[in-house]
Amino acid sequence: MNETATVAVVPGDGIGHEVVPAALEVLDAVADIEYVHVEAGDAVAAQRGTPLPEETLEAVSEADATLFGATGETSADVILPLRDAVDSFVNVRPARTYPGVDAVQPETDLVILRENTEGVYAGMEDRLTEDVSTLTRLVTRSASRRLAEFACDYVESNDHDGFTVAHKNNVMRVTDGLFVDTVREEAAARGVDVDEAYMDAMATHLAMDPAGYDVIVCPNLAGDVLSDLAAGLVGGLGLLPSANVGSERGIFEPVHGCAPDIAGEGIANPSATILSAAMLLEFLGADDAARDVRTAVEATLADGPRTPDLGGTATTDAVAAAVVDRLPDQ
Ligand code: ATP
Repeated sequence: MNETATVAVVPGDGIGHEVVPAALEVLDAVADIEYVHVEAGDAVAAQRGTPLPEETLEAVSEADATLFGATGETSADVILPLRDAVDSFVNVRPARTYPGVDAVQPETDLVILRENTEGVYAGMEDRLTEDVSTLTRLVTRSASRRLAEFACDYVESNDHDGFTVAHKNNVMRVTDGLFVDTVREEAAARGVDVDEAYMDAMATHLAMDPAGYDVIVCPNLAGDVLSDLAAGLVGGLGLLPSANVGSERGIFEPVHGCAPDIAGEGIANPSATILSAAMLLEFLGADDAARDVRTAVEATLADGPRTPDLGGTATTDAVAAAVVDRLPDQ
């Protein structure tokens, strides 16, 4: 990070207002960043009639990167346009276990590369009659190729052997046919090994033997579902970060939602958001700071304090403070 980066901060709703400040404390300790604080979500919709005020869209469109918390009912009206605004074509979702955290499948260590602009999340739904509703599933060669190019780059730069592409081209022959053919072609052109799996069978294999997977490339909805499944394998949603990556900008957010059931109690696990902040640092080129943050989170997960979702009694703030304490002196 050569010059001071600008980062838009969007806490959103619910526990977003707890986990984002926690992550900012950590970022403040390792990097010199200029923040633009803006709002989005249910609460701002209730006050101002729109969940995504113009200044928020503008701030996210112009910032080098965005740290996003979570939004509630208005999520689709917020995060989808924001992902569009930064041309974010892939959602990177790593899921791994940590020493000290109980996990259903302790050997899980994988990353999901999810197509981020189309599929069934392209927003093309209609209610035709009282009885009939429809949804159009959009798949383009260009978006599939862009995802595949990113996957090939990712595999090469992170020393992976190849990737597994998840799809359902035996049923969605035209749309997933195009998706898989394009991914296969790009990987072949780049000399990257590709395995294939039907996404439903993959769910079973993932639950039983996650060590069989390393990098998973998949359509939008499949990535959403498979990453929540992966969260269940590694100890819960409080642990999974994500990056919405565009060619020049990115939005970094925990995989979890705004958790209304625990919002306001100050007990949300901030790890997913702090790890998202580490991904943000890496995106901005601050690799050493990103590594320091990850190491401090790992040490805190191993030795505590831990929030109630991980069996502890600590508050969000106490966990953030413990992570900051474990950072090397700057
Ligand atoms: P969305 O559809 O917006 O992704 P969701 O329906 O998946 O949201 P979440 O808000 O992610 O729901 O919450 C699911 C469950 O996980 C809730 O019981 C919530 O309390 C718990 N949870 C989510 N995030 C955290 C966190 N950071 N710390 C502790 N518990 C969490």
